[in-house]
Amino acid sequence: MSDARDAVAGQAEGLPGDYHVHTTYSDGTGTVAECVAQAVSAGLAEIGIADHFSPVVEAPWNIRHARLDDYVRSIMEAASGRADVTVLLGLEADYVPEHEAQLRGFLADRRFDYVIAGVHQVDGFEFDDPDQRDGPRWQDPDALLRRYYEVVAGAAASGCFDVIAHLDWIGLWGHVPGPGVRSAIEAALDAIATSGSALELNTDRTSDPAGVMYPSDELLAAARARGIPLVISSDAHEAAHVGRFWDEAIVKARRAGYRETLRLSDRQLVPLSAGP
Ligand SMILES: [Zn+2]
Ligand SMILES: [Zn+2]
Repeated sequence: MSDARDAVAGQAEGLPGDYHVHTTYSDGTGTVAECVAQAVSAGLAEIGIADHFSPVVEAPWNIRHARLDDYVRSIMEAASGRADVTVLLGLEADYVPEHEAQLRGFLADRRFDYVIAGVHQVDGFEFDDPDQRDGPRWQDPDALLRRYYEVVAGAAASGCFDVIAHLDWIGLWGHVPGPGVRSAIEAALDAIATSGSALELNTDRTSDPAGVMYPSDELLAAARARGIPLVISSDAHEAAHVGRFWDEAIVKARRAGYRETLRLSDRQLVPLSAGP
């Protein structure tokens, strides 16, 4: 098939899928069915449910271990027999270096369409906790940021993940990395490129004080330069947010040089529409 016909075929398949969606199985408010319905009405070709999970920590914001089979079954049921949208079974697994062996063991026994890496803490420090903004870990922000990118590099190198979520979320309070963080950022991007994982452009720019999509334009361009494939995802915690801000995200991705996104159902790169 020619390049031109490839492009036509890709555009006919619709907007990039949303692969980072939370439901009532973790800390979302929408059911699987409600999220899938929203994907259809938003015109998405694919949706993947990826609720929070830790193989070690049972917490209210994670899928309860006792409900895992139910989680899998409900998504398989939602996927079954649909012609209007492809529904994928995903997971956003916490990446904690000390829990890597448990995660690897868990994933070896289970079959997911894809697994997203969520780095939500650094050495046990939950950097999004507003009560710790004046604590000792934020006294040297660049040191914390360096350590964050080291953990992200570890997630990529673990080989457990298909997608790295919300890269540079450590900037949620508005910190801009200083020059001393640069080498750690480069190393994290290099690790992602080597791993073959995709990078997520996270469209949720409303939940954090920084008010931005992750990652920054600069990091996105640096990822593009390394040939890291891209997915666009909402990180929706309510059904109405599935596919939110897609036009804006497409403009941002194209500004960084991306002309394709990764379709997770078959791991094909498909053309990114020009946007508005
Ligand atoms: Zn996350
Ligand atoms: Zn998430």
